Amino acid sequence: MLGKFRGALWVLSVEVGYCKKLAFDKLILFSTGLKLNVCKGPDRNKTCTQNDQKVSYAIPLEIIYLTPLNNWNPHNLTYKGDERLDHGKTVTADGRNGGKTKTKAYDGVNSKIYYITPNRFFTGNETNVDAADTTKDLVGVLDPTGEVRQVRASGVRIFLPDIPGVGILRQRYPIMPIHVEGSTAWKEIQAVGDFLMESKKHANLFRDPLSGQDGGQYPPEVNTDTDLRTGSSTNLTKVGRHRHEVILDKDEVTIIKSGGNVTVVTTENSGHQHTVTIKWHKKKGFYMALCDSTEITRPFAVKCWDKHSARMAAVPNE
Ligand SMILES: [Zn+2]
Repeated sequence: MLGKFRGALWVLSVEVGYCKKLAFDKLILFSTGLKLNVCKGPDRNKTCTQNDQKVSYAIPLEIIYLTPLNNWNPHNLTYKGDERLDHGKTVTADGRNGGKTKTKAYDGVNSKIYYITPNRFFTGNETNVDAADTTKDLVGVLDPTGEVRQVRASGVRIFLPDIPGVGILRQRYPIMPIHVEGSTAWKEIQAVGDFLMESKKHANLFRDPLSGQDGGQYPPEVNTDTDLRTGSSTNLTKVGRHRHEVILDKDEVTIIKSGGNVTVVTTENSGHQHTVTIKWHKKKGFYMALCDSTEITRPFAVKCWDKHSARMAAVPNE
């Protein structure tokens, strides 16, 4: 048995043959006098104190299945030890940040920057990445011959990225049940959470409609025929302030929201109309990508000869 203090967690590994090497973290130790070695400092110069743990019961909270990936180093990347020591620091020296060029790739790996698994071993990206996860998806590391190798992180994850022919494997499993999972109250709380955090997505379920920009309503998640209004014209030397409207049918809305674009002619206002190409921005919604022109400009720059602002608001259909 091996006890280690890592971050905020007690980690206790129990070795039962290779494949059953399990790690229990957040474990309340079960022993009447288990001795734990707590070591601090770099490997070469660490100070250890031995703690006696005396507790009466143990509840394993999580199983972590370890794999040979932690040690598999087919590119022979050099491990330079503790990130805080001079040798370890050379990994990121001169602004090296894991880029794909010879000047930006990490120069070997260290205790913190531990990327040795060849990128080709996985297909697809990291799954289930959460905010506390600081792992980069893919980095460049110099091998001993000075070649840049594209590698992925080699530490423990909840899910490994997809391995061709194998699939997505899970490494970490909670043992303790989330005991309220499945109860009605739990589901209600989850639903309210979704409502709060994704209110735009669920706008069509609210009893009172939500207000969006310009007093318009957010378009409901189910795509329907939608009337859009351009922003006001801002070039007032040529024509008075005005807007135009366009009518999109639900198929056009679907095309736009799935990343395509639709070109339509607006209503006539102030004696003219425009031919506009409409696209969708995840946060800002509908906007005019082009107006009377095929010249591509910044997405939200003013558009058309009379300089309408590009963002388009849905017109409430009442
Ligand atoms: Zn106009």
